[in-house]
Amino acid sequence: TTHIDPFWQRANKYLMYTGVPPSPMRIVKAKGTRLYDANGREILDFTSGQMSSLLGHSHPEIVEVVQHYVAELDHLLSNMLTDPVIDLAERLASFLPEHLSKSFFLNTGSETTEAAIKMAKCYTGKFEIVAFSASYHGLTQGSGSATYSAGRKNGGPSMPGQLAFPAPYAYRSPFKKADGSYDWETELEFGWSMIDRQSVGSLAAFIMEPILSTGGILEPPKGYLKRMSEECKKRGMLLILDEAQTGVGRTGKMFAYEHEEEFVPDILALSKTLGCGLPLASVTTTAEIERGCKEAGFLWLTTHLNDPLTAAVGAKVLEIVKRDNVCQKATERGQQLRAGLEKLQQKYWCIGDIRGKGLLQGIEIISDATTKAPGADLGQAVSELAMASGLSCNVVNLPGMGGVFRLAPPVTVTADEIEEGLRILDQCFESILT
Ligand code: PMP
Repeated sequence: TTHIDPFWQRANKYLMYTGVPPSPMRIVKAKGTRLYDANGREILDFTSGQMSSLLGHSHPEIVEVVQHYVAELDHLLSNMLTDPVIDLAERLASFLPEHLSKSFFLNTGSETTEAAIKMAKCYTGKFEIVAFSASYHGLTQGSGSATYSAGRKNGGPSMPGQLAFPAPYAYRSPFKKADGSYDWETELEFGWSMIDRQSVGSLAAFIMEPILSTGGILEPPKGYLKRMSEECKKRGMLLILDEAQTGVGRTGKMFAYEHEEEFVPDILALSKTLGCGLPLASVTTTAEIERGCKEAGFLWLTTHLNDPLTAAVGAKVLEIVKRDNVCQKATERGQQLRAGLEKLQQKYWCIGDIRGKGLLQGIEIISDATTKAPGADLGQAVSELAMASGLSCNVVNLPGMGGVFRLAPPVTVTADEIEEGLRILDQCFESILT
């Protein structure tokens, strides 16, 4: 019936196809952890929209802030400063080490990548950018160049000086030993030797996610980030940390890098979760890097730089995250989700691996219990059935990897909703495998 429905007819006629088939669902309302389609059917949202709606859809306090600011103080000249933007910067700094205190605010993750890369180039006077081979940092020209988890064949050559570093993928790494241990240190040395061979001597920055989300929920082992930052320092590079999906409490800490000891990035980028579904993003750095950028003539003055309306949303998000102990909630609900997934793993041979922290979890699907061969098709089938059964989850598929389900419910998810989601997944695995 979809082809005669005027909604889909108009969609076909007027919307440009941008590379991913549209979901067959027509959602008319989103509230809390639930979506409602045009037929009144309820869908449990275990992706927080596009991994963004951290506090659930249309959190009442966010609605109130939007209503107030859209009526009182929506948008000004890009260089006019307002109270909400200073509130947001101050609150953000209160969660960070003292020297990481200088922020500016944008709209999207792609934009933060563009800005951070530009800053690194200005500060170091160099131009080469290194990213993980399973990275996702956006899809604009510069950020897309630093993205290896989406197709590369979408717009010609990448930015000059873009280099890929082997992503830490313990489950399938060639540096995984027969006894199951993962020799990440040798892998890391190998990675750097490849970079040093390819570099023309102009290494400016390494950009990374603390947990590679779109790359398949890959978690660098303990000690990895610290080693990485030491290697960057040695080469005079900045370390840019992209916490688009992991930031603001999702993994059980305010920022995922806090799970690691003795590690602080040079530039921290937040987006998605900071605006909880609204277009807000931040780039934060040190006074020293700010000074270097200024001397090099760094310029960033986009239309929505430091907009009061979305800044007020961000300030409210940070207030709620602290007041409601969101990190604790993400830890508790995350443990519940993880325990449920591990039960499913006992039950179904096709669940090869479970990875993630807090409320960012991934399940990797295999097609053969002995060889653990990737099961991308099976993963796709389960995710489609889950969607049809009322659970919105999404599956990421890189070459050589099983379909990896990403589960990232809002931190406001209830214990009952976690159980409900797990029950739907259980039924989907059951019906696909039998
Ligand atoms: N960085 C990371 C880690 C992301 O996951 C994403 C979005 N998937 C981006 C950057 C790009 O953000 P946006 O789509 O808002 O430009």
